Amino acid sequence: MPRLSEVIAALESLWPAERAESWDAVGTVVGDPGQEVTRVLFAVDPVQEIADEAVQLGADLLVTHHPLYLRGTTTVAASTFKGRVVHTLIKNDIALHVAHTNADTADPGVSDALAGALDLRVTGPLVPDAADPEGRRGLGRVCELDHPLTVREFAARAAERLPATAQGIRVAGDPEAVVRTVAVSGGSGDSLFDHVRAAGVDAFLTADLRHHPASEFMADHAHRPLALLDAAHWATEWPWCELAAAQLDQISDRHGWDLRVHVSKTVTDPWTAHAASAPVLPGSASGAPSADSPGAPN
Ligand SMILES: [Zn+2]
Repeated sequence: MPRLSEVIAALESLWPAERAESWDAVGTVVGDPGQEVTRVLFAVDPVQEIADEAVQLGADLLVTHHPLYLRGTTTVAASTFKGRVVHTLIKNDIALHVAHTNADTADPGVSDALAGALDLRVTGPLVPDAADPEGRRGLGRVCELDHPLTVREFAARAAERLPATAQGIRVAGDPEAVVRTVAVSGGSGDSLFDHVRAAGVDAFLTADLRHHPASEFMADHAHRPLALLDAAHWATEWPWCELAAAQLDQISDRHGWDLRVHVSKTVTDPWTAHAASAPVLPGSASGAPSADSPGAPN
C-alpha cells in the first residue's frame, strides 16, 4: 500500500506543478504525506457534494481539476463553504490534490481527453508550449474529423458524447457549414480566438463563451466563416478525469500498489435546467434553435 507522498510523486510526474500558470494554485491542498492510500476519486470540482462522495466511497485521496483556493484565505472555518470542504476531508483522512493548468498543457492533457471523447484525431496543440522540444504540450488541441460533418451534426455528436448537462451545446455560425478540422479547448476558451484563427480550422469547441467576444469573432469578415460551439465548462473537462484515472491505474499496476481508482459521475456544472426558446423569429440569423439538435440533453 503506497503512502500519500508516493502517490503524489506519481501525480507530479504526470502534471509537474512548475508547468502550471503563474496565477494558478495546484498541488496538494490537504493531506498527510505519511498516510496510506488505497482508494482515489477523480472529479472536476472540489465542492462539498464531491467531498461527501469521497467520504461515502471510503477514498483516501481526492484529485480535482479545479483548485479549492485560488487566492489566499484567512479562514478555513466550517461556516465557509470551502472551509467546510477542508473540514470534511481532514475529519475523514482524505487528501486533496489539484492538477489544473498543469493538466491542461500536459501530453496527454485535458483537451486530448476532450478530443478523444468527440472522436477527433489530434494533430497538435493549439498554443504550443515553447518549453516542449517535441511540440506536443500546450493549450487546446487542433484536430481532424474522421469524416466531414455539418456544424449541426458535429454539435449533435458533442451533445451525445460529452456528459449530459442542462446547457447542451450552443452554436454560433451557419449550422449547415461543413466541418473537417476543429480546435478544442477544455474549460473557458475565449482567450484563444487569435490562435483559433491562426490554426485555420473550420470550428472551435470550448466553454464559457461570452456575448461580446463571440459576436466580434463571428463578425470578423476579414477571415473565412468559422463556427463556435459552446459546451458546459464541466462537461468539457470531465473526460480528463477518466484519462487521468486510467493514467494513475497504469502507474498503480506498474508499482503493484493495487489502488482502487474511481471517477465521480456527479454533475457539478452549476446550471441545472434549460428552457428552449419559442420558435426562432423569422429573419433571425441562424434560422434554427441549434441548442435543440437531436441528442441534446435537457
Ligand atoms: Zn475549468
